[in-house]
Amino acid sequence: MTNVTREEAERRAAELRDLIERYNYQYYVLDAPSISDEEWDRLFRELRDIEERFPDLRTPDSPTQRVGAPPAAAFAKYRHSVPMLSLANAFGADELRAWHDRVARLLGVASFPCVAELKIDGLAIALRYERGVLVVGATRGDGTTGEEVTANLRTIRSIPLRLHAAPADVPEVLEVRGEVYMRRSEFDRMNEQRIAAGQPAFANPRNAAAGAVRQLDPAVTASRPLRFFAYGIGEASPPLAAQTQWTLLAALRDFGLPVNDQARRFERFEDVLAFCSAWESKRHELDYGIDGVVVKVDSLAQQQELGSVGREPRWAIAYKYPPEEAQTTLLSIEVNVGRTGSINPYAVLEPVRVGGVTVSTVSLHNEDYVKAKDLRPGDVVVVRRAGEVIPEIVRPLLEARAGKDLPRWELPRHCPACGAEIYRPPGEAMAYCTNSACPAQLREVLFHFAQVMDIVGLGYALCNALVESGRVHDVGDLYALTKDDLIALPRMGEKSAANLLRSIASSKDRPLWRVITALGIRFVGEQNARLLARAFPSLDALAAATVEQLQAVEQIGPKIAQSIVSFFAQKPNRIVIEKLRRAGVRLEEHAPERPTDGRLAGKVFVLTGTLPTLTREQATQLILAAGGSVASSVSKKTSYVVAGDAAGSKLAKAQELGIPVIDEAELRRLAGAS
Ligand code: NAD
Repeated sequence: MTNVTREEAERRAAELRDLIERYNYQYYVLDAPSISDEEWDRLFRELRDIEERFPDLRTPDSPTQRVGAPPAAAFAKYRHSVPMLSLANAFGADELRAWHDRVARLLGVASFPCVAELKIDGLAIALRYERGVLVVGATRGDGTTGEEVTANLRTIRSIPLRLHAAPADVPEVLEVRGEVYMRRSEFDRMNEQRIAAGQPAFANPRNAAAGAVRQLDPAVTASRPLRFFAYGIGEASPPLAAQTQWTLLAALRDFGLPVNDQARRFERFEDVLAFCSAWESKRHELDYGIDGVVVKVDSLAQQQELGSVGREPRWAIAYKYPPEEAQTTLLSIEVNVGRTGSINPYAVLEPVRVGGVTVSTVSLHNEDYVKAKDLRPGDVVVVRRAGEVIPEIVRPLLEARAGKDLPRWELPRHCPACGAEIYRPPGEAMAYCTNSACPAQLREVLFHFAQVMDIVGLGYALCNALVESGRVHDVGDLYALTKDDLIALPRMGEKSAANLLRSIASSKDRPLWRVITALGIRFVGEQNARLLARAFPSLDALAAATVEQLQAVEQIGPKIAQSIVSFFAQKPNRIVIEKLRRAGVRLEEHAPERPTDGRLAGKVFVLTGTLPTLTREQATQLILAAGGSVASSVSKKTSYVVAGDAAGSKLAKAQELGIPVIDEAELRRLAGAS
């Protein structure tokens, strides 16, 4: 923006104003946004930046100067006696700190107490109580004039029709402000019922709540699961004596109004920052959507002193989180071939930012998954990424499909890599490439081997090049590669070839559990491989084991045991093992990997969630070093489940089986490490 001329800025500002007005109308009046909130925020900031650089371009009707959108004609208008403002946004800790420092400067203090409240993602409303009785309910509208929706708001059961207070304590007028929202669980249930009744599903709880409040028929509003949180006041007459935001929230609660109980008062700004970042990762545990934290100056006198500028109070700011849901176009559905030859569909998306990352591909698991969601290339889809969870496609937007002739997606009949037929065994969810020498499968096998055996420099592209060169037919061939073989590959120089050969050679001395994992036996991941390597001193001993002997190992059930026996029974696998042996790859353990007499000997642990200080690997090492073992799933053989933050189904399973659940501190104590 630094080099633009005034004319260019003027043109762009006019264009942005038009666009934002159009999106505001769709969002606030139709309750049907056509772009993501993040995209809207970006346009809004761009316009504000232009207006800051060229202040004379700032028109009084600019969206940067006004709140929301004017009331729709279908409703009676309601003039707010105290304007309902919007909030300035802070994206990230630095912007929040800048707000804090600016406010401190304006107040002439070093710091000031703040109240931090969750920013409920719903619809702002005002409730006017006269002598304690609800007389008017209105939407925010453009901040000055809203829509009168009293009859609709009266149907929301958590809104008291009369304030709870003795007559002497009831203010003559009290205008309560807050957010109408829907719980996620109730929203999902409502959508399920709508789909079952052949009605279109709502896109998200925010739009569903806004749409429900702005219904012409209160009976429709009443049928929707709306709730309310109060967070502030507009006009208020004595005896409401609150001096601070914090005591105001308590007073609202005493009047019988629902107030969110996660709000906190902080003296120190660092604690405000910690609150904001803690909720960023915990937000998906809530049953209602939040899109950030609102930070408010606690003292009402200081709030008054700061006042407001344009559409925003100076005394509050919204610390915004990256959105967890976004809409984008599903460009195509492709398939790739996994290590086992499985055909894995995935979505190619128009890149979109969601949950703080840019997403351009999303796994679609298998044919039935795509069919159940009825995803079709060309659809507009809702993408979700909550917390650290892998992104997923929630659903296609059926309303955006209308009028487009999008054919249903079908699983390809032939492997995209080798052209062999694709076969889906009866009763299985996965389909497979029927060619065991499929180059795509081999590339995945090599890449997995390289990762587990820690062969530095052997990345995905190189695995592909090796397969295409025809020099490598299985992982055993890696150890027979010569410098000439490597130099013949595209973009491979003498030096990189020498380095790669060195790292292949150094992988010959890895612990046995790595070799077992690297072979890619079905159901044998790192945890099971560690257990097997402890039970069997060499790969030969493992290969000779019967199903019964394998099942005697803790955590190894019949399915895994059978898979191991079948793996070693197959000739191509035996050939690979011979190649590894001849190349000098270590196929046995030289020394016991861990003591058998430690404090945790015989104890089986399962880890779940994020521990406060230890990583997964560190926790595993701690347990192994004390003679215990780590399993990947909870069963009756599990001794303890170590649970951290955001623990999932393993925790539930432990509770179901009555297995003791411990935290990191307890683990350290048991292992003698604290
Ligand atoms: P806002 O939603 O960013 O913040 C102000 C609102 O926060 C208040 O009006 C109130 O409703 C709400 N809020 C929730 N909890 C609160 C609490 N504890 N204390 C105080 N307020 C609380 O601002 P806005 O002016 O309503 O809307 C702007 C935002 O709406 C944009 O940032 C964008 O995300 C979204 N928007 C999207 C589109 C679109 O087309 N996608 C269009 C317009 C607006």
